[in-house]
Amino acid sequence: MTDSGNRPDGSGRELAGDTSSTATDDESAGSSSNSDDADSSGEQPLSEDADQPLSENSFDSRTREPTETRETHFDALLEEEADDDDEASPGLFDDLLSGEPIFENKEVLRPAYTPRKLPHREEQINTMATILVSALRGDTPSNILIYGKTGTGKTASAKFVSDELEATSEKYEVPCEVEYINCEVTDTQYRVLAQLANKFIESNQEAIDERIHKLESLMGADDTESQLEGTTFDNESEISQRITQLETEREAFDEVPMTGWPTDRVYSSFFDAVDYRERVVVIMLDEIDKLVEKSGDDTLYNLSRMNSELEHSRVSIIGISNDLKFTDFLDPRVKSSLGEEEIVFPPYDANQLRDILTHRASVAFKDSALTDDVIPLCAAFAAQEHGDARRALDLLRTAGELAERDSTDHVEEDHVRQAQEKIEIDRVVEVVRTLPQQSKLVLFAIILLEKQGVHNINTGEVYNIYKRLCEEIDADVLTQRRVTDLISELDMLGIVNAVVVSKGRYGRTKEISLSVPVEETEAVLLSDSRLGDIEDVQPFVQARFDN
Ligand code: ADP
Ligand code: MG
Repeated sequence: MTDSGNRPDGSGRELAGDTSSTATDDESAGSSSNSDDADSSGEQPLSEDADQPLSENSFDSRTREPTETRETHFDALLEEEADDDDEASPGLFDDLLSGEPIFENKEVLRPAYTPRKLPHREEQINTMATILVSALRGDTPSNILIYGKTGTGKTASAKFVSDELEATSEKYEVPCEVEYINCEVTDTQYRVLAQLANKFIESNQEAIDERIHKLESLMGADDTESQLEGTTFDNESEISQRITQLETEREAFDEVPMTGWPTDRVYSSFFDAVDYRERVVVIMLDEIDKLVEKSGDDTLYNLSRMNSELEHSRVSIIGISNDLKFTDFLDPRVKSSLGEEEIVFPPYDANQLRDILTHRASVAFKDSALTDDVIPLCAAFAAQEHGDARRALDLLRTAGELAERDSTDHVEEDHVRQAQEKIEIDRVVEVVRTLPQQSKLVLFAIILLEKQGVHNINTGEVYNIYKRLCEEIDADVLTQRRVTDLISELDMLGIVNAVVVSKGRYGRTKEISLSVPVEETEAVLLSDSRLGDIEDVQPFVQARFDN
């Protein structure tokens, strides 16, 4: 890795350069050769030493070690110093800063950035808008279910539409509010309801404050009489009664704590808060499949039957799911209510990804920082990865960062390939790190076999090693059938490749091989606190072959 080779060198040079220049500054001129001597002998008289900052000495003693290499290092340094003559010696960050940066605005490539233009999602965005426009007419929009794999622009599109909806509702003064919840984070009924309750309580209190403020401005004015015309108030005391009433209502809203209440109390707080004012409320539940997976469909059931009980307001739900089949797990009533309208976000193809990237890159990168092949290659890689725009943007950003580290001012095709490799390793590390322990043991067994050079590993061999590993760390031993299932799961995650081969009359067996880099994967497994206890695995596997 050129990168790790360069940096320690570079930074060492900067530090050393700095030290020597302060030394000459401190000690008066003419003594520079002297100080060099003192350096190499290491026997400075104490009195002189006392003038020098303590840290300098510690640098000296650290850089002292292999004297020869240090000298050549110093020679190189002197030459370099001579090059830039009287310029102040560069600090640690100067070099990094001075290179023509590749990025104009890197944030634009991060997932948190919401683009204002979403090419190739016009159709989905228009469909959403057509459904939601009824909210602006005071009607209840149909519930919407949005499906699509990750990175197909669901969240970005839904947020875009909801921003527009709220902006328009303000413009025409039609009361309509959108609340967004990410159910991957907020994943229980309690938390979803509590979060919604608190959001509506807050918005009610703001509305009350505004109202009180308006009423107060009516009172005590010179022309109060004339101002009251056309209002429901006859005199000031009626206004102040109304203010007191509003203040009481404001106080009555109790913020819901994040734990501790019975769920029906949370629900009724939420219900009351929503129904306090006339309005249409759109509740957007992103990653809704995660909520159902974790906590079942009670939340959705409760939300979808609210409209029959609400007096002043109306609720409409937008559910967003990465999992196309998640409605299979829903109560049929919830399923039909939630799926009144369905919008599918298909994967992007390479050409569409190219458009998306081109648009973002024009803002993110300096002009002509990208060579011609970069965007098409990012698009092609991400198109293979189920048309994932997030992946495409990650690739582009990572490629830019790698080019930056190479200190070039061009991102090239090779940076994209390196980025692809880096992202893939990061993904593997993350997947492996979060595997359940039993799967980790199975994977470890496969790795040990591979490291022994075993080809066409079969399930029986994996199982034998797996059992020994379990004994080693006192883990439960699963049946061979279960282990076979775990191997299939690892296969689906893309960590191993398991092909069923026919052995003629001996039946069929699986041939297993690792699809991920051995070293990195093993390192992740061994970082697990329990697997890390397995000591010296080498002879351990050997023993198995001696059996
Ligand atoms: P999903 O919610 O479907 O997983 P996101 O909406 O989060 O996907 O999109 C992933 C990333 O790709 C985000 O950074 C988003 O801004 C970007 N993106 C997706 N679709 C488009 C598009 N059509 N135009 C521009 N950027 C897009
Ligand atoms: Mg999303």
